[in-house]
Amino acid sequence: MRIACVFAHQDDEKACLATLLRLRAERGAEIAFIATTNGDKGMSWDPSIPLAEAAVVREREMSAVAAALGGSYVCLGEPDQFLFDAPRVRLALIEALRAAAPDLIFTHNPAEYSVDHDATARLTTHAALMTTIASVETNSPALARVPAIFHCDPGPGHGFDGTHFVTFDEAVADKKARIVRLHDSQMAVMRELRGVDYADLQRDADRQTGARLVQPYAEVFRPCLMERRIPTASLLP
Ligand SMILES: [Zn+2]
Repeated sequence: MRIACVFAHQDDEKACLATLLRLRAERGAEIAFIATTNGDKGMSWDPSIPLAEAAVVREREMSAVAAALGGSYVCLGEPDQFLFDAPRVRLALIEALRAAAPDLIFTHNPAEYSVDHDATARLTTHAALMTTIASVETNSPALARVPAIFHCDPGPGHGFDGTHFVTFDEAVADKKARIVRLHDSQMAVMRELRGVDYADLQRDADRQTGARLVQPYAEVFRPCLMERRIPTASLLP
């Protein structure tokens, strides 16, 4: 199977990383990571770091994550915190999705804590449909089928009530933590902000989600209910 992960920032994929690891191991999934923004505001504790330099770091870290999953990575390069719908952005996303030709897309929930996340979720749900509309021309040919979409868990406080759970064990949790830590710069940001390692924070959240099923760990998703983008449960492990 083929998967596209469309997120606003380099590190947002942590919401579905264990599921990706399972799909890769169990079904040989080919994974394309697509970031809508360049993450250039991501060194938020230190304004002396030039934005272009921050974007280079984020690019390098995200490329390492993609490589760890044997996947590809493309960045649409929009400025971090200022993603807007525009013809250029839509076409770039449609092209990235056509090139990836996914059966399934993971993206943000449409209502979240970041305006970039909201915009990415909205753009992705509509771009997914437009991948099949041949009269919308990009470099790659139109897809034969609209990819299905699952929205990822933004954590508490956003009205997200997940319905599709993917459980995982300690070994997958260890692998996930190792990959999350490839975002070195973001580990530093979270240590500054909250005094804890980002990977540990995510592991705690996954443990709490798992506890709801009396399982060691879990990630949880909601299906996109828009026509032709509705996923079947069998797309998840
Ligand atoms: Zn983000």
